Amino acid sequence: MGLIEELQQILAPERVSQNLTVLEQHSKDESYHTPYLPEAVVFPETAQEVSDIIKLANKHRVPVIPFGMGSSLEGHVIPRGRAITIDFTRMNKIVEIREKDFLVRVQPGVTRKQLEKELKKYGLFFPVDPGADASIGGMAATNASGTTTVKYGAMRDNVRDLQVVLADGQIIHTGNLAAKSSSGYHLTGLFVGSEGTLGCFTEITLKVYGIPEQIMAARAVFPNVDEAVEAVVDIQQAGIPIARVELVDEPSIRQVNKYSQTNYKEAPTLFLEFHGNKDGLKQDVALTKAIAEDHYCQEIVFETDQALRHQLWDARHNLAYAFLHAHPGKRQMVTDVCLPITELAGAIHFAREIVTNSGLPAGIAGHVGDGNFHIIMIVDPNSADDLARAEKVNEQIVQYALERKGTCTGEHGVGIGKLKYQAKEHGGAYQIMQTIKQALDPMGIMNPYKKVENETVTHGS
Ligand SMILES: Cc1cc2nc3c(=O)[nH]c(=O)nc-3n(C[C@H](O)[C@H](O)[C@H](O)COP(=O)(O)OP(=O)(O)OC[C@H]3O[C@@H](n4cnc5c(N)ncnc54)[C@H](O)[C@@H]3O)c2cc1C
Repeated sequence: MGLIEELQQILAPERVSQNLTVLEQHSKDESYHTPYLPEAVVFPETAQEVSDIIKLANKHRVPVIPFGMGSSLEGHVIPRGRAITIDFTRMNKIVEIREKDFLVRVQPGVTRKQLEKELKKYGLFFPVDPGADASIGGMAATNASGTTTVKYGAMRDNVRDLQVVLADGQIIHTGNLAAKSSSGYHLTGLFVGSEGTLGCFTEITLKVYGIPEQIMAARAVFPNVDEAVEAVVDIQQAGIPIARVELVDEPSIRQVNKYSQTNYKEAPTLFLEFHGNKDGLKQDVALTKAIAEDHYCQEIVFETDQALRHQLWDARHNLAYAFLHAHPGKRQMVTDVCLPITELAGAIHFAREIVTNSGLPAGIAGHVGDGNFHIIMIVDPNSADDLARAEKVNEQIVQYALERKGTCTGEHGVGIGKLKYQAKEHGGAYQIMQTIKQALDPMGIMNPYKKVENETVTHGS
C-alpha cells in the first residue's frame, strides 16, 4: 500500500488532502522564497495521530513538515523535495488554564490572538506577539519574540513544557510545571527554536502574566535614528522597566500613515509602552520623557486610552503589510540581525546606507530594546535582479552583525534563508548541532534541509 492510502487509513480520508489549492497554501510562507508543493497535507487531531503519521513517514522514508500558520519568513515550511505537510490547525484547543500557577497548556494550532482572547477572561495575558497571528506551535518552533520581549522575554523564556512527538514516533515531555529546575539537560530550550527539525510539538505549557494595573503607550519623535536609539540605551541604563520600545524609521511611518489611516509625524519614531501601577508608571514616564528630551525629542504623545493604544500597536504590527499593500504582487525580504545594544546605532546607519544603495523600496523597524531590527525590502519574486540586490543587502548586514558578535537572526529563525550563515556564526558548535540532529532524527524525516545541513539522508521515492 502506498503512503497516501496508509495515511487515509489512520486519519479520515478528508483529513488527507491532495487538493491543489490546499497544496498551494502549504507550499509557501510569507517570504520571497520560491514555493514548492508538498505531496499531501494531513490534518491530525491528536498526538497519537501525529505519532502514527511520523511512523508511516519513516516506513516510506518521506519527510514531514510541521505547519502552523505559515507566517514564517525564511522558507521554514517550504518542502525541498518530496514531503508530507502536517497542518496543526485542527489541534487548536486551550487544554487547561492554571490561573493561580500562571500557566496555560495549549495545543499547537492555537493562535496568539485566540489565546489572548481566552486569557483576558482570567485577567491574564501572554506577552509574546510576533507581527502575524501565528500559532503557538510555530512560535515555539521559531523561538519567536515580539514587541514585549524587552520585558517578558522570547518564547524560550516562556515555555515551561512541551509534549513532543519525536522523529521515531515516540511521545515525550521535555519539562515540567515547576518554576525552576536543575534536573537533566534543558531539552525544552533545545526544542524551542528547532523549527520542526527535531520533532512535532503536540502540547505546549506556557507561562502567563497578570494584566498590569496600568498600561501607558507613547510615541516619541526624534530628529534622526541615532538620537532615537541612544535614547533607548539611556532608558535601559536608567533601569526603567520599559515593556515595549520599537523603532520605526521615516519611510516606515509614511507607509503606516497610508495603510493605517494614522497621521503620525513622518520622522524616526519610538513606540513605547509602560506596564505597572499608577505611582510607578508616573515615575517611569517622567524619567523617560526627560531622557527623550535630552536626545532632542521633537514630540512625545502619551496614549492611555485603550482604543488609541490598540491603534498604535496595530499600526506597528501591520507595518510589513503596509509596505506590501503599497506594492501589489511583490513579496518581502526581511533581514533580522540582532547585536549588542551599543552596536545598534552603527548597524542601523549602515543598514540605511546599503539599502539606499540597493534602490529597493524599504523601511527599517525593530525591537530596539533587544538590539534586534529589520530591513523590510520589497522585491519582485520573479526579478533575479531584485532578489540579488536584496540578497546582497542581507549578506552585508549579516556580515556586519557577525563581526560584532551578533547573530544573523534575532527571532525569525534559520529556515532555508539563513542556513548558509550557520557554520560561520557557530564555528565548532555547529558540528555539535549537526550531531544532535543526527542523533534525534537519523533518517532525516523532520523538516530536512532547514536549520542545520544534514546531507547524509536518502529519501524514498
Ligand atoms: C508581518 C509579519 C510580522 C512578523 N513579525 C514577527 C516578529 O515580530 N517576531 C517574530 O519572532 N516573528 C515574526 N514574524 C515571523 C512569524 O510570524 C513567526 O516566525 C511565527 O512564530 C511563525 O508561526 P507560524 O504559526 O506561522 O509557523 P509556521 O510558519 O507555520 O512554521 C514555522 C516553523 O515552525 C515549525 N512548526 C510549526 N508548528 C510546529 C509544531 N507544532 N511542532 C514543531 N514545529 C512546528 C515549522 O515546521 C516551521 O519550521 C512575522 C511574520 C510576518 C508575516
